[in-house]
Amino acid sequence: MRCYVCSNDIMTQVTWTNVFLPPKRSSICEGCLSQFERITPTCPKCGRGDSTGLCFDCERWGMDKEDPLEKNTALFAYNDFAKDWVAKWKYRGDYELLYSLREQVASLEGPLVPIPLSDERLAERGFNQSEAVIRLLGGESVSLLERSGTSKQSKKQRAERVTSENPFRLVEPIRAPVTIVDDIYTTGTTLRHAASLLKEAGCPSVSSFTIFR
Ligand SMILES: [Zn+2]
Ligand SMILES: [Zn+2]
Repeated sequence: MRCYVCSNDIMTQVTWTNVFLPPKRSSICEGCLSQFERITPTCPKCGRGDSTGLCFDCERWGMDKEDPLEKNTALFAYNDFAKDWVAKWKYRGDYELLYSLREQVASLEGPLVPIPLSDERLAERGFNQSEAVIRLLGGESVSLLERSGTSKQSKKQRAERVTSENPFRLVEPIRAPVTIVDDIYTTGTTLRHAASLLKEAGCPSVSSFTIFR
């Protein structure tokens, strides 16, 4: 078995636990795995690991109106190694690289909502990163959102639009708690745009899961 990240052979060590049991398969070598920084969350809201309690950003989200996002859970810090990994996976289209993390994620219950990509972006990349993560989690993907402004008419109006305008449109409301899934939580704006639409249409609670934070 080769490491999905560096292509080196993964040595399976024989220990007393796997002399009799088949050794656990791994898709990533120890060296690569150790360069990902697993997060121990300190901010109860966005799941970052470098704050003292609720971080400044999250405090601001709840300031003038109720934060539509219940909570984000993230697996790893978005460090240099992670940025490199994402560049290979997403921008260079090494789709299979995602499977290097398959033993690192637990499965998620309930409807998982992907963040839609614009048609242009989807054509360019060949896959939707958030759908890909849902597949990795083995969850049920429920497409409830679409990009607004992909038609020719709205393209013309795009320049006139303010940047804070919600880039999504709700396709279908849902009355059950959901988890939005994406690859990276950066500012949290995208997730909150999506969450606010779902909440306004009667969704009782919206959380999110991202691989990186
Ligand atoms: Zn490796
Ligand atoms: Zn936070």
